[in-house]
Amino acid sequence: MAPLIGIFGGTFDPVHLGHRNAVDALCKTLEFAQINWVLSARPPHKDQVNATVEQRFEMLKIALKDEPRYVADDIEIKRQAPSYTIDTVKAFQQRYTESRLCVIIGGDSLHSLHTWRQYDELMQTVNWVVMHRPGYSFKVPSELTSRLVESPAQLLEHASGKLWLYQASDYDVSSTQLRAKLTQKRGAQQTIVRNFLTEDVINYIQAQKIYMMGDSPVTKSIMNPEQIKDHVIDALEDVKGQDIKAINIADISDFADYMIVVSGSSDTHVKALARSASDKLRSQGVKPLNEDGADVGEWVLVDFGDVVLHVMRPEVRNYYDLEKLWDEDVRKLVEQARDERGD
Ligand code: ATP
Repeated sequence: MAPLIGIFGGTFDPVHLGHRNAVDALCKTLEFAQINWVLSARPPHKDQVNATVEQRFEMLKIALKDEPRYVADDIEIKRQAPSYTIDTVKAFQQRYTESRLCVIIGGDSLHSLHTWRQYDELMQTVNWVVMHRPGYSFKVPSELTSRLVESPAQLLEHASGKLWLYQASDYDVSSTQLRAKLTQKRGAQQTIVRNFLTEDVINYIQAQKIYMMGDSPVTKSIMNPEQIKDHVIDALEDVKGQDIKAINIADISDFADYMIVVSGSSDTHVKALARSASDKLRSQGVKPLNEDGADVGEWVLVDFGDVVLHVMRPEVRNYYDLEKLWDEDVRKLVEQARDERGD
């Protein structure tokens, strides 16, 4: 049987684990000799947080480098004229004369397929796999139902013109969401970003400072929340912080993973504790995003992104009781809300 070549197009801005895991899972079900990840050209965007075409292509190469069957393909970005899938398919027919072609798309594209250039010809020229994408229905437009097949084996029985719906791995993520997270200054978002991008792609984004609005922590944070928390605690112990308490709020907060509370015996001590923590973390490459209250010295807040530190005079700490507020009251409210939603 002629080898099967997949064409998986996208803007990949950036390429994420939603793409990668879905295609990896698909490859376990359908035997592809090769899948070309075809980078789409995109008109220069006013929004400056997008990556350039070269950066998108570089990220694609990085994200695919461990799988020999995946090819980062620049055929569409090299084309001078506007680039359409039908042109890519025709170019592939000339390039891979002995192969069968299959275009792979996510479920969100299913409903706009009819707007694609030379739609009828395109549908007939290749086979199609539509990968389920969380949040998008798998309802097939009526004009396509006659093309549907039930299984990958049935798809392989036809040289072209058939469509198979694949329940891919359910990674609920999009490049748009990730770009938004990457531009935010909060720590917990970085954790989300880490869950959906490969380490090497994150390193490239950091090195190139892509998607950054100003001085985003993503460029700085080379430590995970646990490590930041441990360094902050060390720094507080170095200058005799009293009653240090670290509360894990990752499950109830979307702004940080840890809140640390510590008491200082005087204004000077409070300021010294905050300074000790900021200096230590700065020396490790983690720049505080914000520091508040250091002029007065009753309550200093230092925001390290994933970890927020509150240094307080004991009477202020007793009065506001942040520990109870977060560890008990907020937790109760969040759990109650989750129960009501049935999460
Ligand atoms: P954006 O949010 O910028 O539109 P995207 O995350 O949808 O980006 P694209 O580069 O546009 O990514 O997607 C390329 C292809 O991958 C499309 O066919 C899309 O439907 C599919 N796709 C994207 N994310 C997922 C996912 N989480 N699961 C399955 N398919 C996906």
